[in-house]
Amino acid sequence: MNKKSIYKFCPLCKGDFVKKRLIHHEPERLVCKSCEFIFYLDPKLVACTIAETINGIVLQRRNKEPKKGHWVLPGGFVDRGETLEDAAKREFFEETGLVTKINSLLGTYSYPGEANIIIVYHSEITGGTIQPCHESMSIDEFKKNKIPWDQLAFDTTRKALKKYIDPILTPSEK
Ligand SMILES: [Zn+2]
Repeated sequence: MNKKSIYKFCPLCKGDFVKKRLIHHEPERLVCKSCEFIFYLDPKLVACTIAETINGIVLQRRNKEPKKGHWVLPGGFVDRGETLEDAAKREFFEETGLVTKINSLLGTYSYPGEANIIIVYHSEITGGTIQPCHESMSIDEFKKNKIPWDQLAFDTTRKALKKYIDPILTPSEK
């Protein structure tokens, strides 16, 4: 689905939107016919975390579409005003029940035509107990040689796990 087509009305005055190219080398923008408000469709930031218990890397099995039933790195959308690091820690805690401390930035992932920009941290688990939230079918821990590669939800899940597990072999996906 093309998300650019779902906004029809101005959030300020309820006027109709029209698509206009305001600057020749930039994409078309949604502009309100009544008040000329420009609605910029900005990217959305997602902060994810790779962290290991003694049993392995913590993955979450999605309970909603897209990719329901597939495994992802615990993470979610960054709130406006929130730091990336705080968002990664908050989302990891909400989804797994585990408290983390950021270790390093593992990678950033973006794709042409996609709204989401994904930031993946490598973190240490410092507390808590595993407690799946409603967005998970389950939480599980996987040894590096037991990652369910054919049941991962997204490209980013696969790329980040590959980079974490075997950074030397995947320079092109850094
Ligand atoms: Zn308007």
